[in-house]
Amino acid sequence: MYIELVKYPDVFLRCVSKPVSFPLDDKTQRLIKWMERAMYNNYGIGLAAIQVGYQLRMFVMDVNRSFEHPQVFINPEIIKKSKESITDFEGCLSAPGKRGEVKRYIRITLKYPDEKGEEIVKTFYNLAARCIQHEMDHLEGKLCIDYEKGNYSRDKHKSQTMVESDFRTKSDS
Ligand SMILES: [Zn+2]
Repeated sequence: MYIELVKYPDVFLRCVSKPVSFPLDDKTQRLIKWMERAMYNNYGIGLAAIQVGYQLRMFVMDVNRSFEHPQVFINPEIIKKSKESITDFEGCLSAPGKRGEVKRYIRITLKYPDEKGEEIVKTFYNLAARCIQHEMDHLEGKLCIDYEKGNYSRDKHKSQTMVESDFRTKSDS
C-alpha cells in the first residue's frame, strides 16, 4: 500500500502539532502502525505524524533500520541536553533531494509516556539524538532545510550522516 507523504513546500508541515491524549484510542493506535509502515516504505529512520497528515505530537524512529523494533514517541519533551553539539547534514522524507546542515546536541535526555501512558526517561546519543531533534522540529513546524544558509553543495554532503535518508537520492551522487 502506498502512503503519500506531505511534502515541502506544503504549508501543513508548518503547523505546530497538538498533544496526544491518553489513553490512546483505536484511531491513534492505527495511526502509529500507519506511520511505521510509511517510514519503512520510504526507507526512512524517522517519521512524524505531520508527515502523514496528522497534527499530533508523535513520531516513530528506527535508526538501525531493524524493520522490527520501531520506537514510538508520544508527547516527547527534551529534559536534558549535552554541552557538545555537532553539525552534520540531514535529509527529510518530506523534502526529497534536499539537505540541511544542522547543528544538534550529541546527547539528549527525553521524557515521554509509553503507549500505556507510563512515563519513560531515556538518554539518546549520536544518530538517535539527531533523529529525535529532527523529528521534534517537525512537531514545531520546522524543517531541517530551514537551517541551511548557503547554497546546497554536492561536495559537502558526500560522507555525511543522513536522517530519514532516501536511498534513491543518496545514491545519485
Ligand atoms: Zn523530516
